[in-house]
Amino acid sequence: MPAPRHRRIHGHSPWDNSGRVDLRLEVPDWTKDALCAEIGVEVFFSNNAGDHATRQAKQACARCPVRIRCLEMALDFDEWNDQYGVFGGTGPKERRALRRERAQQEVAA
Ligand code: SF4
Repeated sequence: MPAPRHRRIHGHSPWDNSGRVDLRLEVPDWTKDALCAEIGVEVFFSNNAGDHATRQAKQACARCPVRIRCLEMALDFDEWNDQYGVFGGTGPKERRALRRERAQQEVAA
């Protein structure tokens, strides 16, 4: 898969889950350093949290120079990012837990 297309998809595509395009979103510049651009996008969107593809995706994220930015962006988007894919080394369940944790910290502060 060509890197730019993958970057758009995994670097947070302007496509929403319904297939509509949100042209207000731009692909952030840091996505040019995304390690996932060198790997097939399918490993980042496995439906099985414990399978080989997901482990492979998380291993790539662990070596990715933009992992923190990627995770921050994923946490900023709720909805479909909470349900699909590996971003910043986290799966949907882990992101939901991180978001809950942050919300609790905000309440406590
Ligand atoms: S952290 Fe993972 S999902 Fe995010 S850009 Fe890097 S390789 Fe891609």
